[in-house]
Amino acid sequence: MKEKKISIIISVYNEENAIDKFFEEFDKIKNQFKWDYEIIFVNDGSNDNSLKMLYEYAARDEKAKIISFSRNFGHEAAMIAGIDNASGNGIVCMDADLQHPLECIHEIIAKFEMGYEVISMVRLENKSAGLIKNITSKAFYKVINILSDQARFEENASDFFAISNNVARVLKNNYREKVRFLRGYVQSVGFKSTTIEYSAADRAGGESHYNIKRLLKFSISTIVCFSDFPLKLGIYAGLLSALAGIIVLIYSLCTITGSPSGYTTLVTLICFMFAVLFIVIGVIGQYIAVMFSELKDKPIYIIEKKINFDEKNKE
Ligand code: UDP
Ligand code: MG
Repeated sequence: MKEKKISIIISVYNEENAIDKFFEEFDKIKNQFKWDYEIIFVNDGSNDNSLKMLYEYAARDEKAKIISFSRNFGHEAAMIAGIDNASGNGIVCMDADLQHPLECIHEIIAKFEMGYEVISMVRLENKSAGLIKNITSKAFYKVINILSDQARFEENASDFFAISNNVARVLKNNYREKVRFLRGYVQSVGFKSTTIEYSAADRAGGESHYNIKRLLKFSISTIVCFSDFPLKLGIYAGLLSALAGIIVLIYSLCTITGSPSGYTTLVTLICFMFAVLFIVIGVIGQYIAVMFSELKDKPIYIIEKKINFDEKNKE
């Protein structure tokens, strides 16, 4: 009987084309871990055969557990549900598409044994992501690192990370925001942390669920979540407009001719001012939207069913 246990959390959303391969690979490796394991599949409201396939797997392996959501709540919600329900000494979150190599779990367990509590997996190269995705991801980390005063985020950090049960407790109790950036929280809680490099493989099957639109939405909510700098833009814009006003005033006084002129200047200034004003209102709106969603306090996820969990954990 192994003394310690690793909880492996796999978020699954319409992965019928990849999950079979995942089971196959996992079966090969699962008894070789130095620690005992539990694997928690979080079905994020799939509407294909994924859930059925998970049920079949859980019937074969009692250490495979399933949490099934009532609808799609998003990848982060799935990871949070997994972390909330994990009982291992260490927890690792991974994708179901084999982009995160299962072999890394050996290295993760070794790091836990060395006393590390936060292990960020750093992607060396992302073969299946296109050039645009790689560039925008880099740009995103640059921007968030400049804007955020709370923490420095690892560029190329992925949704592949491992945390100790200590850190999981902190996330469970203190990081329940509705608009959130889980991998940012993981990097900002402190604790003894380290990184492991890995190269992302190609997707085992199916297609990525993240398109540019979804990533953009995700980026905006992350910035709002970690930085209040955009709110200060209004002050800078105000100062800039005041400066422009003074320059135009001085220019007008110097070139006074007595006739009504400066129509173009006026129109330009009005357009400029209104543009600045509307942008500032939009930015404030973003923050109000976030506050509103926190205020409503809707659940991060809703569980429809749990399989293979202990009686006491059952809902
Ligand atoms: N996923 C999820 N809910 C979603 C979208 C994705 O649980 O709404 C899961 C998906 O099944 C996969 C992981 O999150 O296991 C990462 O998604 P994906 O592979 O599509 O993203 P990428 O690796 O391309 O960034
Ligand atoms: Mg993936």
